[in-house]
Amino acid sequence: MTQIIFEKSRPGTRGVKLPDAGVEHNLNKYLPENLLKEEKLDLPELTELDVMRHFINLSRKNFSVDTVFYPLGSCTMKYNPKINEYAASLDGFLNIHPNQDEGTAQGALQLMYELQEYLKIITGLDAVSLQPSAGAHGEFTGMLIVKSYFEKKGEKRTKVIIPDSAHGTNPASAKMCGFDIVEIKSNSKGLVDIEELKKVLDNDVAALMMTNPNTLGLFEENIQEISKLMHDAGALLYYDGANLNAIMGITNPGLMGFDVVHVNLHKTFSTPHGGGGPGAGPVAVVEKLADFLPVPVAAKKNNTYYLNYDLKNTIGKVKAFYGNFGVLVRAYTYILTMGKEGLKKASEDAVLNANYLKEKLKDYYDLPYDRLCMHEFVLSADKQKHEGVNALGIAKRLMDFDIHPPTVYFPLIVHEAMMIEPTETESKETLDNFIDVMRKINTEIQNDPALVQESPLKTSVSKVDETLAARQPNLRWK
Ligand SMILES: *Cc1c(COP(=O)(O)O)cnc(C)c1O
Repeated sequence: MTQIIFEKSRPGTRGVKLPDAGVEHNLNKYLPENLLKEEKLDLPELTELDVMRHFINLSRKNFSVDTVFYPLGSCTMKYNPKINEYAASLDGFLNIHPNQDEGTAQGALQLMYELQEYLKIITGLDAVSLQPSAGAHGEFTGMLIVKSYFEKKGEKRTKVIIPDSAHGTNPASAKMCGFDIVEIKSNSKGLVDIEELKKVLDNDVAALMMTNPNTLGLFEENIQEISKLMHDAGALLYYDGANLNAIMGITNPGLMGFDVVHVNLHKTFSTPHGGGGPGAGPVAVVEKLADFLPVPVAAKKNNTYYLNYDLKNTIGKVKAFYGNFGVLVRAYTYILTMGKEGLKKASEDAVLNANYLKEKLKDYYDLPYDRLCMHEFVLSADKQKHEGVNALGIAKRLMDFDIHPPTVYFPLIVHEAMMIEPTETESKETLDNFIDVMRKINTEIQNDPALVQESPLKTSVSKVDETLAARQPNLRWK
């Protein structure tokens, strides 16, 4: 049984010994009495080596993309090239201060400016802000821009249409900007139902928020018709570009008619994520929305780079300073390393890998939408559920084979959903191993469902009551 760090503690043990600094130890007399702690602070006391082992051992219990295959749909857990880390740790980037004079930060400003330019090309739009610090934050920023745009025009548009296959952050972001959400059902092909869309489209609609390919991994074939419908009704089209790795270098949201896009640098552009950040969710917009972007944006005049705060209709600031700069350096490095052809190849391989897995697994698990997929696909564990093991059980069993579970129970429109995204960075051997394991688990369910239900058996913590853990978290050690 692993001990927690408090249990390992022995009174009086010290990790470091520092020479006496010659200053007063007890600072209590300088603090107001009501702010003083009454009890001693309960901190663990250990040697330096014990602390080191504790944290290294904890990290080894973790599933990460650097340790195992991680096909977590919609999350794009691709390899994070280590050269990105090298670039981000260069002294001039690492030790720069956000309040430093622009004249002494030309390299950093150039990087931001050029990253904006690359994202303009990749999205096919006209202007970019690097400020938002996550995908959902990008959505929020984008929808604030939509809202300001109509306010400026003097149009009162209160509704945002969102397909039922959308990522949960879409309705949340639009709602936080004060819009009413109108949900539309997907058709039998898993795509936006044009007739449903026509029924709800009126002069109160500000925007349609879409993901393309959608969260089923399917490309919205009617995107041009949808785009025309929306624009004819005076509304805008929002593109959730969290997962751009299906289309990057092949087509782009601009060509499809989108007006506002966010991209996740921490997904498509290979900067590490998971465990809550940091990330970056830049927003790109068409020309008529450019001066609504948050300030500042990186700009260039007479070969000098500067921060432009002068945008006429700016929504203001959405993040301290200029965004998560370290993430921007990593994404910039990735784009330069890959080049134009490399980015296109990444998309092609992401789509190829997903289709390979889909074809090899569809005889073993239900495939509700049996079509060519993009960077991911969604299986259903309905058949297995009738045999005694649901999608969660399969997900947990995968961990016994050193594979991170896929996303489960999302999108909501597929029962017992298992959303699988292999990404372009995995080898055929890794994909084949995943196929073998998934087929083996299916056989196990037929022969011994109880074994699968009891899994994971090899992990340090077995199946936990996730609902209880979320509703009544116990964050104390005693
Ligand atoms: C990941 C994701 C988001 C949210 O991005 P965060 O950086 O986690 O806020 C939004 N939409 C889609 C489709 C996603 O996959």
